[in-house]
Amino acid sequence: MTYDPSNIFAKILRGEIPAHKVFEDNVALVMMDIFPQSRGHCLIISKAASRNLLDADPTVLSAIIPLVQRVAKAAKAATNADGVRLVQFNEALAGQTVFHLHFHVIPVYEGVALGDHGGGQADSVELAELAQQIAAHL
Ligand code: AMP
Repeated sequence: MTYDPSNIFAKILRGEIPAHKVFEDNVALVMMDIFPQSRGHCLIISKAASRNLLDADPTVLSAIIPLVQRVAKAAKAATNADGVRLVQFNEALAGQTVFHLHFHVIPVYEGVALGDHGGGQADSVELAELAQQIAAHL
């Protein structure tokens, strides 16, 4: 399987499609998932092009994992969540729908079941607020 630069995250990285951005550096773009499984669900999108973890350059992974940790801590603090689930899918049968390397940070709350992967679209105003709140904790 080869990398296809017409995927939606590549379009977001090129500025062709808007996103609720939380943070950006030369390694990754962090943004809110528009079909969140919980309040504060965000994505760390690699700037380097690969389909997923399997074809990623290990040096890219070394650079991105500390950012994933930072975002997990910031999302937990900003949302007052009880825990954080970290998810990363590789290929369609494993649940991957966008074929550009990314990590999910999904805050988990006591007594609240996670929504479905790729469920309903979140309110844009709420996502913008959450993006700001998580950014403030980075
Ligand atoms: P997956 O490839 O299965 O890891 O999931 C891709 C994720 O991207 C899903 O959780 C979608 O809700 C999310 N998603 C798809 N399109 C967008 C978009 N335009 N902006 C933000 N998140 C998106």
